[in-house]
Amino acid sequence: MNPYFDSKEEVLTALESDEAQGLRSEQVKSKQAQFGRNQLVEKKKKTNWQRFVDQFKDTMIIILLIAAAVSFGIAMVEGDVAEFFEPALILLIVILNAIMGVLQESKAEKALDALKSLSAPHARVLRDGVESVIDAAELVPGDIIKLEAGDFVPADARLLKSASLKSEESALTGESVSAEKDALAQIEENAPLGDRSNMVFSGCSITYGTATAVVSATGMQTEMGKIADLLNNENDTQTPLQKKLAQLGTYLGILALAACAIIFVVGLFNGIPVLEIFMTSVSLAVSAIPEGLPAIVTIVLSIGVQRMVKKNAIIRRLPAVETLGSASVICSDKTGTLTQNRMTLVNAYVDQSDELEKISEHNSEAVRKLLMYATLCCDGSYVVEASGEKHIGDPTETSILKASYLNGMPKEELLKRYERLGEIPFDSDRKLMTTINRIDGKYMVIVKGAFDIMEKRCVRGDLKKARNMNDDMSKQALRVLAIGYKEIEALPQNLVAEEMENGLTLMGLVGMIDPPREEAKKAVEVCCHAGIRPVMITGDHVVTASAIAKELGILHEGEKAITGLELDAMSDEQLANEVEHISVYARVSPENKIRIVKAWQNKGQIVSMTGDGVNDAPALKAADIGCAMGITGTDVAKNAADMTLTDDNFATIVEAVKEGRGIYANIKKVVGFLLGTNIGEVILVFVVMLLWHKAPLLSMQLLWINLVTDSLPAIALGMEKVEADIMDKKPRPKDESIFAHGFGIRIALQGVMFATLAIIAFLLGENITGELAGGQTMAFIVLSLSQVIQAYNMRSDHSLFKIGVFTNKKLNMACLVSIVLVLLVVFTPLKVLFGLIDLPIELHLIALGLIAVPVLVMELSKAFGLIRHQ
Ligand code: ATP
Repeated sequence: MNPYFDSKEEVLTALESDEAQGLRSEQVKSKQAQFGRNQLVEKKKKTNWQRFVDQFKDTMIIILLIAAAVSFGIAMVEGDVAEFFEPALILLIVILNAIMGVLQESKAEKALDALKSLSAPHARVLRDGVESVIDAAELVPGDIIKLEAGDFVPADARLLKSASLKSEESALTGESVSAEKDALAQIEENAPLGDRSNMVFSGCSITYGTATAVVSATGMQTEMGKIADLLNNENDTQTPLQKKLAQLGTYLGILALAACAIIFVVGLFNGIPVLEIFMTSVSLAVSAIPEGLPAIVTIVLSIGVQRMVKKNAIIRRLPAVETLGSASVICSDKTGTLTQNRMTLVNAYVDQSDELEKISEHNSEAVRKLLMYATLCCDGSYVVEASGEKHIGDPTETSILKASYLNGMPKEELLKRYERLGEIPFDSDRKLMTTINRIDGKYMVIVKGAFDIMEKRCVRGDLKKARNMNDDMSKQALRVLAIGYKEIEALPQNLVAEEMENGLTLMGLVGMIDPPREEAKKAVEVCCHAGIRPVMITGDHVVTASAIAKELGILHEGEKAITGLELDAMSDEQLANEVEHISVYARVSPENKIRIVKAWQNKGQIVSMTGDGVNDAPALKAADIGCAMGITGTDVAKNAADMTLTDDNFATIVEAVKEGRGIYANIKKVVGFLLGTNIGEVILVFVVMLLWHKAPLLSMQLLWINLVTDSLPAIALGMEKVEADIMDKKPRPKDESIFAHGFGIRIALQGVMFATLAIIAFLLGENITGELAGGQTMAFIVLSLSQVIQAYNMRSDHSLFKIGVFTNKKLNMACLVSIVLVLLVVFTPLKVLFGLIDLPIELHLIALGLIAVPVLVMELSKAFGLIRHQ
């Protein structure tokens, strides 16, 4: 079979398919077994073993291992059994650390994979005569698929029917202008890909029109599959913050290395054995360089992102999480986002009549005829099944289909009688949709769309009266559609909107209600409180839009509602002066959206913009946070967006901003915790070495502290619940440093605090026991446990006792594990291996006292407002 050269009948026969019924279930099963899933084979992932090996590619770890090997060698030569322990222990700790690293990485990857599968593409398919939406991976050759503007083409397919179809194929052909497609086109054998206009290809998108097609190839057999190996799907997933932190890590690393070098030299001059002082310095470098920070930040981000999924927001790019936290303007569509998009047809007006007629099951003949014409000019379907009613397609249209159904005129039956011969699909720019149907032997053009557009296209009918009716309905927050028609002599070859949608006779109006979402009002309130400006952007009529915006609290006294036309008439300068006073934009076109985004951005605001159509993609890209609608959104919009709302709900955007702020706050806590404690370690060793020419901690003690206090409590700290008052603050400026508002200084001071405590512990330990090991044991206990306790201090800028000391269960578990690991080496025979000794009881009590100091200091600083609450 040659899918573009053979006739469509031949293709259908070769694929054993049927245009009207699609494949049968048994066929699907056997074809799925034969062809496999409709997916591109993904690049091989790293195995856990590879990841484990990668952990040892760090220079400092390699130096440490070499040092351990040398010390092992010396022990061998000297034959001293006790000397074996240290290098063996170092190796063990390094391995444990590597395992932690692997666990962290695979956790982060799983989280990202889960996200990917959430945004998996879908396809509309006809099987056993029934249309349904399935996972695109389940498609098989022979499946009949339906496509419309905004869809991604799920597999290579031969067109069977098409209406004004255009497809963007740049992924395959490099051509960014949409290619025109036509089911009837005859293609030469061996025509190049770009000329096969009776085919659509997997991975490309439909930018205009509708089509029915039969799948000719799936998965790796598609044209995209053939070049899949060439595609580089690696995205830059590092967020700006992660990049900054990685850079900071490098600086801190250099500082730590310099400190270690000085420690090494001082140690050497003071007669500490070369190998011992070398190991201590390298271990300090390994412990102090926050090399795990970017990985931990990824985990915190991805855990946050998973939390957002549960709240119906799917983040497509990790950097969006950070930006979300800074959002200061949310531009939202009205229909479906601020309102329920449960359109119900309530009124109808037939031209020349005197009043509106309520929609019921027994409407007048005139209204029934209006509904019939409107239905013929609708896509989608409305069916009543045992499980309830089912609306498939645009709710604006299904509300019409339902009213027609209730009046005994299901769309399917109407279409059998009045065949559709052509169509010009709806788009938000024209705000019109047109079909040509054969009615009583005549070619009838039916147009439906926004009244203000239709009134310019109608040449017959009482337009003045209709305008009054339209205004009345709009003021009641109803969406109004006008329906018009004209008869034509012959079916044109090419349907041109300009020609078809002019010279019409007005038939009447229908008005539908779309109530505001209950949660939207609350969310608008939260927004305003959080210093975020909500703005309504809608294709709807300005009166309808204003009525709803007022009800929701978006449009206040003194603020404006303007139309897209008025916006077009404004210069950029005028818009810049006005933009802060405009809360509602009605009758906007997708191009208007970009101007609105840019105007706000020029004011230094971080703008979130929603969108669903193909034409919204540029605005979604231009916005700082593009939000696509998960239910009504097209694949193209979803692909252009940073975030998809699975419930199309405004409240979800606000919830996502809250989560975004929470995630950022948590990352800040983690960074503060890790840096504060690490700085403490460096200062401790540095100062003791300079002043007393001794190592306050041995290498394996340092490594153990690093192992037990770094990863686990840090990750758990990153899972802290979003603080209740996070939406009471103003948005954070996007470029603000994480160390702003004195945070950096506080971290450094905390480092000094840990070092001071540990130095006191070291000196007391050494003096009271009279042994260096006694001082080291004290320093080990105090430094490790005070760091564990510090994780609690970092949980909030509020008092621990206010937020509940043990309310982060994960942190409780993590800290318990850390404490047990510390006590294990202090109180069991393992202590010998770690160079620790038994301490008299009074030293343990002193240690307890010292460990409690950070809580006291931090609580006092919080109480006196020294830890500024941002
Ligand atoms: P939002 O508020 O989310 O921007 P909207 O639904 O109000 O979305 P569009 O979908 O662009 O905006 O619709 C704009 C106008 O076009 C509507 O007010 C309506 O008058 C008209 N319209 C909407 N859907 C259809 C349709 N399927 N056929 C004909 N006209 C339509």
